[in-house]
Amino acid sequence: MTCTDGDFGTHRVFLTILTSKAESAGRTVIAVDPRNTSRTCPSCGHVAAENRPSQETFHCAACGHTAHADTVGAINVLRAGLVRRNARQG
Ligand SMILES: [Zn+2]
Repeated sequence: MTCTDGDFGTHRVFLTILTSKAESAGRTVIAVDPRNTSRTCPSCGHVAAENRPSQETFHCAACGHTAHADTVGAINVLRAGLVRRNARQG
């Protein structure tokens, strides 16, 4: 199995968000498009392949924000999920 950029958009990350309300009804599963989540700056929003100098490192080419790449990806996936949920609920 290969995973090229062309294939990447077909994959979905499923994200479970726990709200602080009813335990039984508080889970929401949201499909998030993972494209660009690992190369979007969580600080300024700049999106560039140059933001990823290595597999492990995120370094924003625009504002200089530096973090572990996995942390940046997780933040961006979570944000994308929350944005989508908020949009759906109005
Ligand atoms: Zn930045």
